[in-house]
Amino acid sequence: MTPRNKPVRRRPIAVGNWKMNLTVAESEAVVRKLLETSGDVRDVDVVLAPSYTALWAAGRALKGSGLRLAAQNLHWEEAGAFTGEVSGAQIQDAGCSLVLVGHSERRRLFGETDEIVRRKVARALKQGLEVILCIGETLEQRLGDQTPVVVKGQMREGLADAGKEFSNRILIAYEPVWAIGTGRVATAEQISEVHALIRLEYEKLFDSVSADAVRILYGGSVTSENIADLAAIADLDGVLVGGASLNADRFGTIIRGLQKAKA
Ligand code: PEP
Repeated sequence: MTPRNKPVRRRPIAVGNWKMNLTVAESEAVVRKLLETSGDVRDVDVVLAPSYTALWAAGRALKGSGLRLAAQNLHWEEAGAFTGEVSGAQIQDAGCSLVLVGHSERRRLFGETDEIVRRKVARALKQGLEVILCIGETLEQRLGDQTPVVVKGQMREGLADAGKEFSNRILIAYEPVWAIGTGRVATAEQISEVHALIRLEYEKLFDSVSADAVRILYGGSVTSENIADLAAIADLDGVLVGGASLNADRFGTIIRGLQKAKA
C-alpha cells in the first residue's frame, strides 16, 4: 500500500486574520474572550494573526494557552534598510511561529508578485517559521476556466525555493479572491475540486508522504453560520477567517464547528 492510500489524520486548524483592524487593547480583549470561550479546545490548532502593532501584546495574552500567533506578512530580506518593513526574525521575536504569505490583498493591492511570494516563503522557512501560503483565482480567472492553471502556477512559483526539508512547515490556504470579504462562499464541489488539485500538485513538488500530511485550508466568507457545511468537506483541513474572526463569539463557534466535524 502506498502512503497515499493510508488514511492520514491531519490536525484541524482555524486561523483568524485580523487584517488592519483592532487596537492593542481591542486585540488583547478578543484574545481574552476567545480563551474564555474556546481555551479548552485542544484538538484544533487555533491561530491568530493580529496587526504588527498588536503582536506582542496578543502573544502575551495567549501565553500558556494552546493558541498560536501568526503575522500577516514579512519582508524577504533578513534585515536592513527597508523602511516600514518587518523581518521574519522580528515577527518571531514578537511571538509568532507562523506567517501568512501571498494573501490576495497583498498580491492585488500591494503588487506582490509570485517572485516576491517565493522570496518571502523561502525567508520565512529559513527563519524557522511555518508558512501559510495563500493562493486562489479571481472571478475572471474562474469564469475563464483558469482556476487549475492559476492555483498550480501560484504553488509552483511560490514554493520554488522551498527545500524538501521544509515541506512539513508549509500549509496551503485556498482562498478564491471572489469569496474574500464578499459573503460569497465557494461551493463544496468547487472547494473539493481545488483542494484535490492542490494535494496532487504538492505531491509533484515534494512527495506523496508530504502531500498526505499537508494541511489545506479554505478561506473566503467563512462564518459561524456556514462552518458546519464547510467543515464537512473531507479534504478541508481548516479555515482561514477574516471578518468573522474579529468577534470572539463568532470565531469560537467556527472553532467548535471545525472540532465537531473533524472529531
Ligand atoms: C481572509 O482575509 O483571508 C478572508 C478569507 O476574509 P473573509 O473571511 O472576511 O472573507
